[in-house]
Amino acid sequence: FFFFFFFFFPTFLPSQFSRTLPLTGIPLAATVAFSLSDLSRCSHSLTLDLAAMATSAFGTTTATSNYRNGGAANARNLPKNSSVKSKTGVRKSAPGSLGGGGAASSSSKDDAGVPGRVRVAVRLRPRNAEEMVADADFADCVELQPELKRLKLRKNNWDSDTYEFDEVLTEFASQKRVYEVVAKPVVESVLDGYNGTVMAYGQTGTGKTYTVGQLGDEDMAARGIMVRAMEDILAGVSLESDSISVSYMQLYMETIQDLLDPTNDNISIVEDHKTGDVSLPGATQVEIRDHHSFLEILKLGEDHRFAANTKLNTESSRSHAILMVNLRRSVKGKDSAVSSENSSSLQTVKSLKPSVVRKAKLVVVDLAGSERIHKSGSEGHTLEEAKSINLSLSALGKCINALAENSPHIPVRDSKLTRLLRDSFGGTARTSLVITVGPSPRHRGETASTIMFGQRAMKVENMLKLKEEFDYKSLSRRLDIQLDKLIAEHERQQKIFEDEIERLTAEAERQLSDAERNYVQALEKERSKYQKEYLESIKKLEEKWTMNQRKSVNDEKSKVAPIEENPEMKKLLEKETAHRKAVEEEVWTLKTQLAESRRSEALQSSEIVKLRKMLDDEAHQKEKLEMEIGKLQSHLLQLSVEADETRRQLDSGGSEEVLSGLDSLLHQSRQPQSDNSETGDKESVAKLFEQVGLHKILSLLEAEDADVRIHAVKVVANLAAEEANQEKIVEAGGLTSLLKLLISSEDETIHRVAAGAIANLAMSETNQELIMAQGGVRLLSNTASSAEDPQTLRMVAGAIANLCGNDKLQMKLRGEGGIKALLGMVRCRHPDVLSQVARGIANFAKCESRASAQGVKAGRSLLIEDGALPWIVQNANNEAASVRRHIELALCHLAQHEANARDMINGGAVWEMVRISRDCPREDIRSLAHRTLTSSHSFQAEMRRLG
Ligand code: ADP
Ligand code: MG
Repeated sequence: FFFFFFFFFPTFLPSQFSRTLPLTGIPLAATVAFSLSDLSRCSHSLTLDLAAMATSAFGTTTATSNYRNGGAANARNLPKNSSVKSKTGVRKSAPGSLGGGGAASSSSKDDAGVPGRVRVAVRLRPRNAEEMVADADFADCVELQPELKRLKLRKNNWDSDTYEFDEVLTEFASQKRVYEVVAKPVVESVLDGYNGTVMAYGQTGTGKTYTVGQLGDEDMAARGIMVRAMEDILAGVSLESDSISVSYMQLYMETIQDLLDPTNDNISIVEDHKTGDVSLPGATQVEIRDHHSFLEILKLGEDHRFAANTKLNTESSRSHAILMVNLRRSVKGKDSAVSSENSSSLQTVKSLKPSVVRKAKLVVVDLAGSERIHKSGSEGHTLEEAKSINLSLSALGKCINALAENSPHIPVRDSKLTRLLRDSFGGTARTSLVITVGPSPRHRGETASTIMFGQRAMKVENMLKLKEEFDYKSLSRRLDIQLDKLIAEHERQQKIFEDEIERLTAEAERQLSDAERNYVQALEKERSKYQKEYLESIKKLEEKWTMNQRKSVNDEKSKVAPIEENPEMKKLLEKETAHRKAVEEEVWTLKTQLAESRRSEALQSSEIVKLRKMLDDEAHQKEKLEMEIGKLQSHLLQLSVEADETRRQLDSGGSEEVLSGLDSLLHQSRQPQSDNSETGDKESVAKLFEQVGLHKILSLLEAEDADVRIHAVKVVANLAAEEANQEKIVEAGGLTSLLKLLISSEDETIHRVAAGAIANLAMSETNQELIMAQGGVRLLSNTASSAEDPQTLRMVAGAIANLCGNDKLQMKLRGEGGIKALLGMVRCRHPDVLSQVARGIANFAKCESRASAQGVKAGRSLLIEDGALPWIVQNANNEAASVRRHIELALCHLAQHEANARDMINGGAVWEMVRISRDCPREDIRSLAHRTLTSSHSFQAEMRRLG
């Protein structure tokens, strides 16, 4: 319909005209045309002056309100819904309900809504530089009569069509005036809570963007509608209670792109079917607090629009720019009627009523160039693309046609633009359209179609509606605050109440204690009163009694004694007295008897205690004796076996002397077997010494005969096992003889028995020194290196282990290879040997540790120096408990000194220490290991490192 209409009035196309004229070679026509256009421009400036005068005379608001409310002037002139072509060729367009609009702003808003026609203004762009030159010879294709709000579209030099608009803005109209007549009424309406739309429609280059989107950076006067609208909105709201947010989008080829966030390039439209609201929840919404931030947003949008269009290889004239301003205002004072009551409950009711918020939306649209409707595929786009590019704009045209014709079907759903603007045309919004036209006769066709669009849009009726809703959110916030207040008040009251209770309690207590005090006082008073009375009455009685006494004496004198007078009484009395006496005596005897028996009882019990103690002592004694007997028995058994053996040997032909000596020894040693007492045994040993002579026994150690030597050494070893004999043996040179045996004899048994004896003698400190002094360590070491028998090794190791426990001998012992000898013996894996070696190491480590603690020794342990550590670490968890315990102790001693720490860490001793500190069944060793570990910096560091 649109296009058809355009071609329905075939016109003299100015472009053809301008081209044909010079060709026809009629210079006069050109001159005439020139002067005509000159004239027409004069008449424009005249009209403008008139319009300006009219405006200034009546004030801008008059002009604005006329426009806004449908204009009484229009209503006055034109019959409803008529469009006539007058005699003079004036084509009048009569919008539907112009008269009704007047009531709109004054009548209060009810749900039914207020009718409001779409307002349309036409704006003419001044000739641009190119047109100045190219169209210099031609008149503009339009002529404006702003005072009549008419536009004449020239058909040819002599004929024109006249159209009436709501406002006609000449090329001289300022941006300010354009805003005021086109947009300001809409903005005011938005501030009142209605939705509003301002749109620019027209051919590319006619000034849509200039009218709507100019920022006015360089020239403030050039600020466009968007900028000015926001200025008014910011001035009209209170930012404490109201909020403004904006979104800025571009619609191109049926796709909505976010101009504030270019990555967001496919925003969908959401329609609320109940309310008919259209929203773009996917679009970026920016809260606006001041004008500056809004300008930034617009600039950002512009930049993004430019970038997007460069990317898509298109121009902005093909896309629609859409600015959406969402306004949320709270309405106050609506429920003042309820609050007039003074009662507090009513006030609560009042405050429970949610305040009302008005939501309004201002949409400002800079449409794509209208010429695109006709030119499809002209710029390298496929037909499909071209269709898509134009779809929204043609759909808008179709909707407006349908609305203008009151068609039952409005094809709103055909395009994104029409869906987005469904409220703007035929909806509830106040809508204002500015159509922009250029002056050039070359574009007469486009200009005509733009004008027709505007004419039809003027017929579209909207029904303005307020969008109010209860603000439950802020009510909830308010209630929260109120609740907090009530809670605080309640707490305050509670506190007062509690204080009062406390005060009353204190008061009551005070009164109670007062009362108690008074009562006690009264009681005391009463008591003393009665006491006094009592004393007085006693006194009185006494007086009475003395008086009576006196009287009775007098009476006696005068009379015979009454008892005597009454012999029966007297008798009775006597009897009674005697009886009493007897009883008293009885009691006395009983008492003495009782005391007696008590004393004897105590005596008996102390006797029992004594006896019991004696019994205990006896038992103890017996136990001790039994123990001694056991010991002696085993000792004697051994002696008898030895003696038997000796005798057998001697029987087979030994020296007489030896025979007799050992015979007697055997004899003596056999004696105690029958005599089961310790004293007997001791005596026998003493006798043995006396009879055979220790010297003799010791001399046998050097006997020629190997067997004699063996027996002798066994005897000496047995004797050395008794602590009491040790001193005597040493004094008699036994120790030296035993040590000598270690080198002189080759016999393993001798070695074993001698080493055992030495080990026993090496228990005392003096003997240890003696052994050392006589080079015992070397002798023992030699024996150790040559011996094979585990028992020999065990004895040697035991002897060295005993020496290891002597603090004074440490250096010497080590110097003479004691430690090396010990370590050498581990080649024999017998646990008895290992146990002795471990004991020696532990003893040594203990002495070293003591020396280090006393500051006598510095540096690493000699054990480590002598390479004991690997064996220690290997055997720290030996399966034999005796080995393990000694090594665990040794490790603990070694670990106490930082000088050993490095070697121990490198040698893997830390793990063993940790194990000991955790798993050792002996509590003392476990805690020693733990203490040692925690007090050593090096171990701590290592444990941290190992995690
Ligand atoms: P459109 O957006 O319709 O394509 P523009 O707003 O970009 O048109 O205007 C095209 C050119 O004309 C711009 O250079 C603009 O500054 C200029 N222009 C438009 N309208 C006016 C006017 N009323 N006064 C002065 N210059 C204008
Ligand atoms: Mg533009």
